[in-house]
Amino acid sequence: MSTVSTIKIHPRLTSGRFNTVRVALVILTQLVYLSLPWLRWDGRQAVLFDVDNHRFHVFGAQFLPQDFVYLAALLMVCALGLFLWTALAGRLWCGYACPQTVYTEIMIWIERLTLGDHKARRRLQQAPLSAAKAARLALSHGLMLLFSLWTGFTLAAYFSPANDLAIRAAHLALGPWESFWILFYAGFTYLLATHLREKVCTHMCPYARFQGAMFDADTLIISYDTKRGEPRGKQVDKQAGHCIDCGICVQVCPTGIDIRNGLQYECIGCAACIDACDQVMEQLQAPRGLIRYTSENQLNSARPGSGFGQHWLRPRVLVYSALLLTILGLSIGSFLNRSPYRVDVLRDRAALVRENAEGWLENSYSMRLMNNSDRTQQLQVSVEGLPGIRLANAGLVQLPPSQVQTIGLSVQVPPEHAGKGAHDIRFLIRALDGSGHVLSESSRFIGE
Ligand code: SF4
Ligand code: SF4
Repeated sequence: MSTVSTIKIHPRLTSGRFNTVRVALVILTQLVYLSLPWLRWDGRQAVLFDVDNHRFHVFGAQFLPQDFVYLAALLMVCALGLFLWTALAGRLWCGYACPQTVYTEIMIWIERLTLGDHKARRRLQQAPLSAAKAARLALSHGLMLLFSLWTGFTLAAYFSPANDLAIRAAHLALGPWESFWILFYAGFTYLLATHLREKVCTHMCPYARFQGAMFDADTLIISYDTKRGEPRGKQVDKQAGHCIDCGICVQVCPTGIDIRNGLQYECIGCAACIDACDQVMEQLQAPRGLIRYTSENQLNSARPGSGFGQHWLRPRVLVYSALLLTILGLSIGSFLNRSPYRVDVLRDRAALVRENAEGWLENSYSMRLMNNSDRTQQLQVSVEGLPGIRLANAGLVQLPPSQVQTIGLSVQVPPEHAGKGAHDIRFLIRALDGSGHVLSESSRFIGE
């Protein structure tokens, strides 16, 4: 049974090509997350999940609760994308872009800035409590809390207009739900990235547990080359392998494991050990790559070469890709052909059928029109399905942007064409903007 270690890991700072990519991704993902609520598009916040008005605005496109199908498709695409990505690239997501990795990295930057390098942080941790220690820890945790609050505020700004939220936050006039979500997300970020760190990856994250099922012998992994490295020891020994047992690959590991013991589920694939070992190899004037990206097949020489030139055309990769492309294609096609308005028709059940002054039979309906777009919609309503059927009203509707409007309609039919019982009819709602959009809504006409 595994136990949770309470000793805090202070990874040693490393540098190298993979560290550069990781730092760039931390900056990029945070730039996108923190700045997106401030971006304007067509005069409104570019991304706003307006829960109060049941509308989601994403770069000019509007989504209503009825568009739930797109959310379902998005979730399926994300799940399949993750399966595909894991089969190809193993834990590349965990090591470079997972929010837990990104926020932990930022918190470690703050610790390094305020408390010093990994050795200084370890010394401070072991030192008895003093005023100086308390002051330094207060500064460090104060900055981490501030950053956490910023992430919490940003989350709320995706659901409540950012400018207005900032003004109300400055006047301490936030609503209870906004305050709750800001503090909840900030607390969550602080707890996970400051205190729990690698324990989230090793003990809490379900992805780490089930990804074994998505791995195969061609999946990209980070591995120590035992054949080249062993027996480890000082280079003066001619029999020794290339590993000089310096332990730096363990010191830089954010989860505190020794990759030389083989692939372990605690390995988040961050490649810090690759960068560290490559530097050691350069000093020894030995080739880089004692620890490297590879695959089980490449390690066993079944497919020689580097991990990035792996075997792509595998059954699981092809199945995930086909499913992903199908769902993506169908969703994009359906979204592009989506009508800019929606219609619901209800027959007035209180009044069954009336006879007008001309002797025509008349039924009443209530039509609910919803404008999905940011433009005013000019719509022409007509009806068909029975000989001589017509609308008593003009049928012209002007629907303001993002509005819902309910109109009453009277449908008239000559009595000789609407015998006893219910007859199928159809309302046609045509856009007059030249787009050719026509919606058809079925209903019933009750004869005498
Ligand atoms: S950094 Fe390289 S040489 Fe040093 S212990 Fe790790 S694998 Fe061996
Ligand atoms: S073993 Fe290497 S790649 Fe895995 S988590 Fe540790 S440093 Fe990162």
